[in-house]
Amino acid sequence: MNTNSEFLQFGLSEETLKTILEKGFEVPSPIQKLALPVLLNETCDIIGQAQTGTGKTAAFGLPIIEGLAKGKDGKINAIILVPTRELALQVTDEIISFKGNRNINIITVYGGQSISEQQRRLRRGADVVVGTPGRVLDLIKRKDLLLDNIAWAVLDEADEMLNMGFIEDIELILSHTPKSKRMLLFSATIPDRIVKLSKKFMNDPRILTVGNQHSATNLADQIYFEVKRADKFDALTRIIDIEPEFYGLVFCRTRVDVDTLSSRLLERGYSCDGLHGDISQAQREKTLTKFRNKFINILVATDVAARGIDISDLTHVINYSLPQDPDSYIHRVGRTGRAGKEGTAITFITPDEYRKFVFFQKTIKSNIRKEILPDAQDIIEIKKMRIKDELQAIVESETYADYLAMAEGILEVNSPEIALASLLRMAFKNQLEEKSYPEIRTFNVDNTGTTRLFIALGKKDGMNPRKISSFIRTKVKISDNKIDDIGVYEEFSFVTVPFADAETILDAFSKKGRDGKALITKAKKR
Ligand code: AMP
Repeated sequence: MNTNSEFLQFGLSEETLKTILEKGFEVPSPIQKLALPVLLNETCDIIGQAQTGTGKTAAFGLPIIEGLAKGKDGKINAIILVPTRELALQVTDEIISFKGNRNINIITVYGGQSISEQQRRLRRGADVVVGTPGRVLDLIKRKDLLLDNIAWAVLDEADEMLNMGFIEDIELILSHTPKSKRMLLFSATIPDRIVKLSKKFMNDPRILTVGNQHSATNLADQIYFEVKRADKFDALTRIIDIEPEFYGLVFCRTRVDVDTLSSRLLERGYSCDGLHGDISQAQREKTLTKFRNKFINILVATDVAARGIDISDLTHVINYSLPQDPDSYIHRVGRTGRAGKEGTAITFITPDEYRKFVFFQKTIKSNIRKEILPDAQDIIEIKKMRIKDELQAIVESETYADYLAMAEGILEVNSPEIALASLLRMAFKNQLEEKSYPEIRTFNVDNTGTTRLFIALGKKDGMNPRKISSFIRTKVKISDNKIDDIGVYEEFSFVTVPFADAETILDAFSKKGRDGKALITKAKKR
């Protein structure tokens, strides 16, 4: 081990330090700095507030391995409960990677796989069991899993387990464990239900917090763009196009949104796939493997389907639509910028979501920066540069031999410029034309200003201020007091509304009337 390594300070064994070196960890992550000294040198329980990807597996895994390296009693020493099968497998792999050549058995149990195989493996002897609550409880009931001698009980991603309805199972599992064990609970957020659980089962836990409860990972650069719903798709493709190595998770609200978005991306030639609750476990694993191995670089998912996905080098997390609440925002954004890697979290805000977003920002206490989408010219320039780089790479790697004779033949009848330009056209079709990038209308919702609207209905149509207000509210949910300064004239009327609402109203009334004009339009300057 590098003699300067900060991992030396914890007094870990030589064998364990060697595995850390092999894994290439250089400095301990914040949760590791906080938790390792407490877990290695003291005896208290802990609640660690840390998201997925912050290195918490090592924070609890290393002390468990160190304990086992000193002596085993042939019984299960640690139970680690996690919300999903994927996380169970990831946690298992991570802990196995710390054991080195030592004889320590780590077994994973989860639903959806034959229980008999898991029973067989348990019978052969386990030191550490990592599992999902349902299956763990099942195995306890069948007397295949005996937890009466454990030294450690770990709840990983406790808030996710709570969201998935595992709380009763967890309580039952814990009731089969000895009081003497140490209990560790890790969670990105600490809702009341978790506080209650900790009071019931933990022994005066020490709370270790990395940053503040509502702060999304500091490593992710957080940006938002204001886009109309109808422009979201083009906005997304611009973001993907401008990033040379885009590798991202795109969050949608519903299963239908996931399907629609992934089909549209596929149609446009992007390599992507979608994940949601209706997708079979087998298909889900296939998709995740493709994504992990970078055969696809875009994964579209719902919050539920994205649970437990732990992919450490995402360049982007995109909130294609705003999540339900600030906690979900933190969970989503926490998936990028992992273990020291920079990542970008992008949120699309439509006019009607702006207020909700302001509330999120206040709750999260995080700086989410507004940016303007790259324009078509920027993207085209970047694409051109990329094409030149790729071409140069082929020239330098000399992998063009099969085409040389053909090239000579083409050059006999065409000039080099024309031949090359035509070849580029063939390869990239109209990708480098500005008109391939539809215009994205800009607007300002974070402005406290208002918009004056023109309505093509007036006194002659029986309108008065009250009726104008109700007319708008037939299509748009807006409170009366936001419709201000109503002027009703013979042929037409005017109202003043906040910017964000104006966009919604204009959208709702965008259908053109007989005269080819929409009923409500932006008023010309007064
Ligand atoms: P976790 O939060 O435990 O799921 O860890 C996320 C990823 O970060 C895993 O791939 C770990 O191997 C990696 N990791 C954990 N601790 C460190 C560290 N101190 N330095 C670099 N990578 C780490």
